[in-house]
Parts: sequence; C-alpha cells; structure tokens
Amino acid sequence: MIAQEFLDTNITYLPGVGPKRAELLNKELTIFTFRDLLYYFPYKYIDRTRFYKIEELDPDLPYVQIKGYIKGYVTEGHGKGKRLAADFQDDTGTIKLVWFKGTKWVAGNYPPGIEYIVFGKPSVFNGIVNIIHPEIEASSKMSERISSALQAQYSTTEKLKDQFLTSKSISKLTGNLLKQLKIRIPESLPAWLVSQYKLMDLHDSLHKIHFPADPEELEKARYRLKFEELFYIQLNLLRFKANRNIKHKGFVFSNVGNNFNSFYYNNLPFRLTEAQKRVMKEIRRDLGSGRQMNRLLQGDVGSGKTLVALMSMLIAIDNGFQACIMAPTEILANQHYQTITKLLKGIDIKICLLTGSSKRKSRNSIAEALMDRSLNILIGTHALIEDNVKFSNLGLVIIDEQHRFGVEQRARLWQKNLHPPHVLVMTATPIPRTLAMTLYGDLDVSVIDELPPGRMPVKTMHFTDTDRNKVFGFVRNQIKEGRQAYFVYPLIKESESMDYKDLEDGWDTISKVFRPPEYCISIVHGRMTPAEKDKSMQLFKDGHAHILVATTVIEVGVDIPNATVMVIESAERFGLSQLHQLRGRVGRGADQSYCILMSSDKMSKEAIKRVEVMVRTNDGFEIAETDLQLRGPGDIEGTQQSGIPFDLKIANLGKDGQIIEYVRHVAEKILEKDPLLNESQNVVLRLELSRIFSQRQSWSNIS
Ligand code: ADP
Ligand code: MG
Repeated sequence: MIAQEFLDTNITYLPGVGPKRAELLNKELTIFTFRDLLYYFPYKYIDRTRFYKIEELDPDLPYVQIKGYIKGYVTEGHGKGKRLAADFQDDTGTIKLVWFKGTKWVAGNYPPGIEYIVFGKPSVFNGIVNIIHPEIEASSKMSERISSALQAQYSTTEKLKDQFLTSKSISKLTGNLLKQLKIRIPESLPAWLVSQYKLMDLHDSLHKIHFPADPEELEKARYRLKFEELFYIQLNLLRFKANRNIKHKGFVFSNVGNNFNSFYYNNLPFRLTEAQKRVMKEIRRDLGSGRQMNRLLQGDVGSGKTLVALMSMLIAIDNGFQACIMAPTEILANQHYQTITKLLKGIDIKICLLTGSSKRKSRNSIAEALMDRSLNILIGTHALIEDNVKFSNLGLVIIDEQHRFGVEQRARLWQKNLHPPHVLVMTATPIPRTLAMTLYGDLDVSVIDELPPGRMPVKTMHFTDTDRNKVFGFVRNQIKEGRQAYFVYPLIKESESMDYKDLEDGWDTISKVFRPPEYCISIVHGRMTPAEKDKSMQLFKDGHAHILVATTVIEVGVDIPNATVMVIESAERFGLSQLHQLRGRVGRGADQSYCILMSSDKMSKEAIKRVEVMVRTNDGFEIAETDLQLRGPGDIEGTQQSGIPFDLKIANLGKDGQIIEYVRHVAEKILEKDPLLNESQNVVLRLELSRIFSQRQSWSNIS
C-alpha cells in the first residue's frame, strides 16, 4: 500500500512543480496526483537518432533534428513581431532559427562557435525555411541527455507553455517521479492474467511508455496499458449485465396469443425476411426467459424494424401487458402511429399517440386509459417520460432511433414500472461491431442484415454547383414519371440563422425552377410548429406535393415509398451517418431511387472522402467504419451520452478493435468461472473496478 500512497501524493509535492504549476496541471491536464502524471501518456515519439541535413528540410516534415553552427544573432521586426533570429548552418545550407520570447536568455546561453543540435518543426516564412522556438543543445551534451532514442512528446497547452511546462519539461517531471519511486508499482491485473497473456508488468510498462529504449519495448508497454484499459471497461460492462440479470427478474411472456396470431395470419402484408424472423426468435427467447430483456436491434434504414417492434408489442399485449414506443421526433411518432394503426386494422387493440402537442383533453383520456388498462400501445415522443405519464402494467418499452436519446432518458423509461419492463432499443445508425461492444456492451445485440426483397439499391451521384441544371433536369424527369423528390439543406445548431438562409435561398431557386401550377412544393423546417410540419408532410405523403424542401428534420424514419430522389445540398457539410440516414429516405419502394450529393467545387480532404464512400457503397456498416476512422469515436453520435469514460488514456476505440474483442473474451471467461469475482486470485479485479468506476456507477443503472 505504500506504493499506492506514493502514487496518490498531490502533484504539488513533486520537485519541480510547486503550487503554481500544480494548479496549472490540475486545470489544464487534470493532473492532480503522481499517479495522474504517470498516466499522462505521450501522444507520439520522435526518433532522435536520426539527423536531417539542412538541404533536406521542408515545411511538410514533422519535427526534425539537425546538427550545425550558429553564425550570429540579429533582432528583427517591431512591437509584437519583434524577434531574435539566428542563421544556423551545416555543410549543406543555412536556415533561420527564430525566437519571440526569452530572447536574452537564448542569446546569452547559446554563443556562436559551438556545435549544436537543434530540434523543431520546420516552417516557411518569406520563402525561407525556419524553425520557431527550437529546442537547442550543445552536441557535446548529447550523450548525457539521451536515455532513449525515442523521445516522448506530450501535448501541452498555451497556458502551460507560458509557465515553461513544455513537452520536454513534462518528460523531465515524469523522469523525476520515476527516479523517486523506490519500490515497484504493484500490479493492477491479477498475476495469473499477466503471465497467461504474456503482458509486460505494470511497473515496467509505466517506465517504458515514457522512456522506451526501442520500438519493440514501446509496443509491449503500449499493448499492456491498452489491454488493461479496455479490459476493465469490458469487465465492468459484463459484470453489470450479469448482475442485472440476477437482480431483476423479467416478466415472463410465455404466450403467443390471439393478437399476435391474428396479425400474423390475417394482417401481415408481406412475408418476413429471414433476418426479421431470426430477430423475432431472439426477442421471443428473451421475453420468455424470465430475464429482463435489454436488447439492441440494429438494422439499416428500411430494413423493417417497425414490424419487429410491433410483433414484440403484440406478444406483450397477449400476455396482459402494455407496451410503448418512444420516437425522437413528432413526425416520426406520428408516422409510427399511422403505420401501426393501419397494420392493426380489425384487431381489437387500443393505440394512442402522445406528443408535446397533444391537447389536455386527450392527455387526460390517455392517463385514464393507461390506468384502467384499456390502452394497449402508447406511441409518442419524449412526452412519454414526463412524470405524469403513468402506466399500470408496462411490459415492454421500445426506443426507436436510440442515438437521439441520452442515457438518462432511457433510465427514466425504465422506472415507469415497479418492475423494470423489457427494453428493446432500435437504431438505424450502424455501429462498427467493436465500438458497439463498448457503447452497448451490456446489451444483447440483434442485427437485421437484410433488406426486404425487391428493393433496388439507391444509386448515389456527386455533382458540383456547376452541374445544377443537369440535376434539375433529372429531377424534372423523375417527377414526369410520377415520382417525388426531396431537397435537403444542412442545419447546424450554431448558425441557425445562416442555415435558415440556405433553406430560404434554396426554396427561392427551386420554386423558380419548378413553378406552379405544374409543380407543387412543400416545405418542412425546424421553425415550424409541429402542426404546420405535419400539414406539409402530409401534402407530400399524399402525393400532392412533388417536391419536399426540408432541413434535416426529415432525417430519421420518414417513409414515403414514392419518393425516389434525394438531393442533398451542401453535402460537404453533413457527417457520414447523416448522409447515410438521409439517403435511406429513398429506395423504399419498387422503383430505382437516386441520391444526389451537391457540393461546391472546393471540398476539404475529409469531405471528399465522405462523398467518395457514399458514392461507392450502400453498406451502412462500411460507412460507419469509415466514419469511425475519419472522426474517431468521441464524435460518433451516441458516444457522448453513452456513459462510457471516453477520456481513454491510451486505447482508441476506433483503432483498437482487435484488442477490444480479445479482452472482452478474456473478461467473459473470467466471469464465467467466477461471476462475483470472489476468488482470491481475482480480488485485485474487484478493487480496480471500484477504483476506476466508482464515480461512474450511477450510470450503469441503465439499460
Ligand atoms: P426501418 O428499419 O428503417 O424502421 P421500416 O420498418 O420503416 O424500416 O420499414 C421500411 C419499409 O419496408 C416499410 O414500408 C415496411 O412496410 C417495409 N417492410 C418491412 N418489412 C418488410 C418485408 N418483410 N417485406 C416487404 N416490405 C417490408
Ligand atoms: Mg424506423
């Protein structure tokens, strides 16, 4: 425990820190203790065995190291631009070294005539290569300094640098700390696990990650630390899942009764796809098992999740329970209400719709019907989780398009009943498998990986503004053939006024090109009241409007099979998952559909990649993978609310998929043998879990 106490020491007490720097480290890097500093890992390493020649330097190079002589100093510029410059020369050429701060000290400490090693990032100013604020050192001191060829680089902030807390000084502090450490850092993984999986031990890993002797050693240290970080996340998720099953008995839905059967045999308008059948089996198994279901249903847009939701609800009703669906928007809730009402025609089931715009009177009658159990299915928006909505026997909760709901909202639905209802979470945003293992690691996952038959894949094309007339001509032809088209404009919260202008301009153009009375255009955007939105949608749904001009409010779930063209304006401003969602609004009927991505001629590299992948494939999982590679997991929708600590110190959920899969397997095996982690060899696991997750346990009370 002495080692633990040492690690928990306040960072102020580390020689070279003191109160002022400590405060900065707290604020800027959330480093409070010795342990925090040790776990502040480098973000990259620079090979300091390699020397560049001055003639090789160009501004595209990362940090470089050169050897040579300072010819002399001059002061250049005035006021804020005032700087100290030195010509630095080797046998191949000359560059300029530049300092804006600490100039006196530099000029005093690095006199000309001595051979120096200069280290920094080359840039270009006035056509001359220079290095601003280089690190500089007499080359005679070199052997003394280099304890390792790979020099760790730490991220710092401007405020830190102002207090001379550069990457180099952080490295120095870490070095001091390791030198002070008189005992070995105790293992945070069970000894048997370290040896069985041939991991570097913690003590060595924490040394080598900061001061690796060679790339191989570094890799071993990194692997060990990533392994541990990801392993504890998986162990926590899996243990929580297991505990939940022990704590909460699920309602047993043993019957498949009249409602289900009469729907299946009389009302079902088509045959289920094999994938829908398989998923129904998985759900039925859960519902009959006596365990509370917590299942994630992933299925690309248009794969037929609504039907699965409906059939699951019928099973609940057949067993005497109520069910509800929560959707993220009124449009979508409304659509579910209409679809489900139609599908259940002739079957004696009471369905109600509850949204923010429901009137007092209908709210009251819903409340009554919920209590006297005459209401079977309640469909709605966030309005469902308000406190005054009370069910008498809620057996199944379905959450559609889950990425729009935060964890807390899910939790509140959970608490709508004395005993937790079964929960089915449906998402159309495909999530890469390994990311799902972390984001939804405590849920069981079902996948609908097949579209209903007869669907033709949507053709995706990219045009720039210069081809606008071609695009309009194309849309005109489609309308001539009786089809309908969407024009979608971006909406980004921060600049709502600007986006609204985009929409207005677009509307102007489009209504000039597609003039009434020949054409009818409908519009939907976020500033309309739900009733207005509804009216516009209905106009398009009924086929009266040929074109729907909209912002991304239509992104999710809207189902209008006759619409075959999706024109996405300023496509470069949309994220990949959004583009994919929008594309999913077409291709829902039997006709060939098209997605047209409009962009300006100038696009960022990333935007080009996004457009390319959209044109190349319709596979939601491939798109999700690309999204993950381009943006990293922190930005993927849903990750923010997931309750997983995403301030991972070393692992990367996007890149370390293989390790995630591996450690999940390791964690599963451990829990299989020792579910409560009671065995003495596993005690350290329990201790570590509570140390890591103690502040976060409240999150995990959530499906
Ligand atoms: P999503 O998974 O995106 O929610 P929906 O449930 O809205 O998809 O279904 C998309 C469309 O496919 C709907 O019009 C629905 O009626 C239809 N559909 C669903 N299942 C089948 C099936 N097995 N065969 C034919 N069409 C189906
Ligand atoms: Mg849907």
